[in-house]
Amino acid sequence: MQKIQMTTPLVEMDGDEKTRILWKWIKEDLLEPFVDLKTEYYDLGLTCRDQTDDQVTIDSAMATKKYGVAVKCATITPNAARVKEYGLKEMWKSPNGTIRAILDGTVFRAPIVVKGIEPNVKTWKKPITIARHAYGDVYKATEMKIPAAGKCELVYTNEAGEETRALIHHFTGAGIVQGQHNVEASIESFARSCFNYALDTKQDLWFATKDTISKKYDHTFKDIFQEIYDAEYKDRFEEAGLEYFYTLIDDAVARVIKSQGGYIWACKNYDGDVMSDMIATAFGSLAMMTSVLVSPDGTYEYEAAHGTVQRHYYKHLKGEETSTNSVATIFAWSGALRKRGELDHLPELVDFSEKLEKATIDTIESGCMTKDLALITTLQNVTVCTSQEFIREIAKRLAKRMA
Ligand code: NAP
Ligand code: MG
Repeated sequence: MQKIQMTTPLVEMDGDEKTRILWKWIKEDLLEPFVDLKTEYYDLGLTCRDQTDDQVTIDSAMATKKYGVAVKCATITPNAARVKEYGLKEMWKSPNGTIRAILDGTVFRAPIVVKGIEPNVKTWKKPITIARHAYGDVYKATEMKIPAAGKCELVYTNEAGEETRALIHHFTGAGIVQGQHNVEASIESFARSCFNYALDTKQDLWFATKDTISKKYDHTFKDIFQEIYDAEYKDRFEEAGLEYFYTLIDDAVARVIKSQGGYIWACKNYDGDVMSDMIATAFGSLAMMTSVLVSPDGTYEYEAAHGTVQRHYYKHLKGEETSTNSVATIFAWSGALRKRGELDHLPELVDFSEKLEKATIDTIESGCMTKDLALITTLQNVTVCTSQEFIREIAKRLAKRMA
């Protein structure tokens, strides 16, 4: 069989621990037999990040800007224990944080829906995609404990040194205070990423804030989305038969639970943090979730939403078999290859990505699955596979589809 040819390299970001091992098996068993893989390889494993003083992470993000599509393996974000374990020169920053800062994007996460892993919410028929703004608000806030009675104010000083003041509270006793911010440029790029992604995936877009209470802060989010929609996207949405729907966050929460799914839910940073965990759990697990970072200039980075599965890796090092779910990592590859195929007009590559995803879903629906899914499935007579058996079961089904 002739292997599928690629024209532009895919930026490949290798990672750590158990997911690094899954990465290798996925390439060997599911990709290389069918595709003449053309990648530009960056080793984001912690050892290489340390050797290059983290330059490799920056280089990989710059390569993503150059080529447009990347696929990333889960990576360790070092803490004190990791500095000791790997003898690191420094406690390097989160690679995802570094890459997001360079690409300036929004993270979209969607559950992978299979028969036998039923959502806890019985009306949900299609996936719900969360689009999380990844800058500012409470994540970049300054806080203070107020020890006793006194006045607290917001003070803005412009470049000319002129002050504008607003009273926060006149404390009569001890209390707490918090200062949050966001920037228009970031909200604008968040809005554009969401509108582009909705058009790209042909789904409606929902957005919600608490603008009735937060008449300046949240209202600015609402206004920016509406202005950009009216000026740049309204026509294309109407042409595609899609809807942009704004509502209050509490109304959105109620509607999400009553809905059938099948839309993108854009969330401010905190709402996205909280709601994506709820959505992932209610649909099954983090290992059954796709994750893609989309930048406003149309760059895509695909990854798994979970970590490096450290506990399974240590078992693997001791020679014990594990049953680690590789679905999210497989879908990171299929997502990236599909996007590469679309951008380069390679229908065979797009078709391969579809088949890889179908073979993966077939495998689970036929009762072969990893332990995490076996614990929650409604299917009977399930076979619990080891990490590698599961990938090989997918490979068999993929080979049939490709024949
Ligand atoms: P984790 O790797 O997500 O794993 C936590 C637990 O969730 C696992 O022990 C396992 O539970 C279950 N799990 C997660 N993914 C699974 C999979 N694919 N198949 C089966 N079970 C799965 O989180 P962690 O152990 O807290 O973090 C390990 C490292 O990952 C950390 O160094 C962290 O910095 C990094 N991390 C990276 C990313 C990223 O690169 N995107 C994201 C998060 C964390 P059981 O042990 O009960 O089987
Ligand atoms: Mg969270």
